[in-house]
Amino acid sequence: MTSNNDILFARAQLTTPGGVNSPVRAFRSVGGTPRFVTRAHGPYFWDADDKRYTDYIGSWGPAIVGHAHPVVVQAVQDAAANGLSFGAPTEGEVLMAEEICRLVPSIEQVRLVSSGTEATMSALRLARGATGRDKIIKFEGCYHGHADSLLVKAGSGLLTFGNPTSAGVPQDFVKHTLVLDYNNPEQLEDAFRDMGDEIACVIVEPVAGNMNLIKATPEFLSTMRRLCTQYGAILIFDEVMSGFRVALGGAQSIYGIVPDLTALGKVIGGGLPVAAFGGRADLMQQMSPVGAVYQAGTLSGNPVAVAAGMATLKLIQVPGFYEGLSAQTLRLVQGLTAAAESHGIAFCADAIGGMFGMYFSAQVPVNFAEMMASDKTRFNTFFHAMLDRGVYFAPAAFEAGFVSAQHDDAVIDATIDAARSAFEELALS
Ligand code: PMP
Repeated sequence: MTSNNDILFARAQLTTPGGVNSPVRAFRSVGGTPRFVTRAHGPYFWDADDKRYTDYIGSWGPAIVGHAHPVVVQAVQDAAANGLSFGAPTEGEVLMAEEICRLVPSIEQVRLVSSGTEATMSALRLARGATGRDKIIKFEGCYHGHADSLLVKAGSGLLTFGNPTSAGVPQDFVKHTLVLDYNNPEQLEDAFRDMGDEIACVIVEPVAGNMNLIKATPEFLSTMRRLCTQYGAILIFDEVMSGFRVALGGAQSIYGIVPDLTALGKVIGGGLPVAAFGGRADLMQQMSPVGAVYQAGTLSGNPVAVAAGMATLKLIQVPGFYEGLSAQTLRLVQGLTAAAESHGIAFCADAIGGMFGMYFSAQVPVNFAEMMASDKTRFNTFFHAMLDRGVYFAPAAFEAGFVSAQHDDAVIDATIDAARSAFEELALS
C-alpha cells in the first residue's frame, strides 16, 4: 500500500525545492520519506497515514509545553478574533518586552522580530554599528540562522577566515567572519591578542544545539566574557534554542555569565513566529528609530504570535516546571544509555534542562570535530528503527532533541522500551 506521506512528498517536490520549506525536514541525511504531519497533541503528532509518533523535536524547540496546549490555543484564538496584524504597537508587545526583561536580567531592552535569523542578524548589525568594527568571531558547528555573514564554513585549522557554506554568499561578505573551535579558550586568547581591537563581537551558542548538544565549558565562556570586556567587543549569546529551554533564565543563568546582547526565539513564540534580541540599554538605544542602526519588520510583534508566546511564558513559570522537565529529560537519556549498554552499542547521551543529545560514540563530544567523528551510519539505522516504532527523533545525527512537559513517565518509558528493541536490532545488524 502506498503511503500518503510518499504521495505528498512526490507532489511537494514538484512545486517546492526538495519538497520542504526548511532543508532538514527532507530526511536527506537519514534517507527515506519525511512524515507529513496532520495534527499534534501533547507529546505526539500524527502523520498523513494517521500513524502516531512520540515527538522529540517539538518544532525544533518551541513546543516546550506540549503541542496544542489548551491555554496557548485559547490565547491564540482570543487574539485572532481581535485582528491578525496592525502594523501599529499593542499592549501585548509591551507586556512581552517587560516579561523578557524580567526573566533574563541581562536584557534591559528588547526588540521583537519574527525569526531567530532576524534576531542574530540584527544583533550582529548592532554590534558592528556600536563598535564601528567589522570583524566577528563565531565557532565551528554553531548555527545562528542563515544571514550571509554567519553562513560560514569552519576552517579546520587555527584562525581560518571562513569560506561561505552556501552558494550565493560573496566571499567579501564573510571575509570578516573568523571561525574558531568551540570550547577552545586558548584559541580565543590568540585571536584577541592578534586582532582584538578589530573585533566587533563574539557570537556563541552557550549551549550548542546545532552540532547535536554540546555544552560550553565554564572556562570557555568566562574567557570569552573577559576578552570581550578587555577589548571592547560585544558578547552575543545566541539563546534562540537554549533560551527558556535549558532553564527559565536561559544558559546564561546556569553559567552565571552576563552577555551584552542575547538572541531569543523558539520558546518565546510558543510555536508561532516570535524571536527577539536585546541586552544592554545603551546598546539597544542605538537601534532605529532612536539610534543609527536600522532594523524593521512588517509582522514584528505580531499580536497573535505574541499571545502564543505570552501564554507559553506564563506556563513555564509554574513552580517546578523546569525541575520536572529536566527530570524527564534525564530519565530519557539514562534509559537510552542503559538500553544501548545492555546491547553493547557504543552510545552516550547528555542533557540540560529540556534538551538532550545522543551520540554514537564512546564519549560525549566537546566540539564539532569530535561530533563529526561519531558513527552517523549507526545513528541513521537507529533513527529509522525508532521511527518504525513510532518515535520521532531529529532526522539527522547532528541535531539536538527536545522534551516537553507532556512527556510523562509513561511516554518516556515507552520510548525506552522502543529503544531497547531498536538497539537489539542494531546489535544484530
Ligand atoms: N540560532 C540558533 C541557535 C538556532 O538554533 C536557530 C534555529 N535552529 C537560529 C538561530 C535561527 O532561527 P530561525 O530558524 O527561527 O531563523
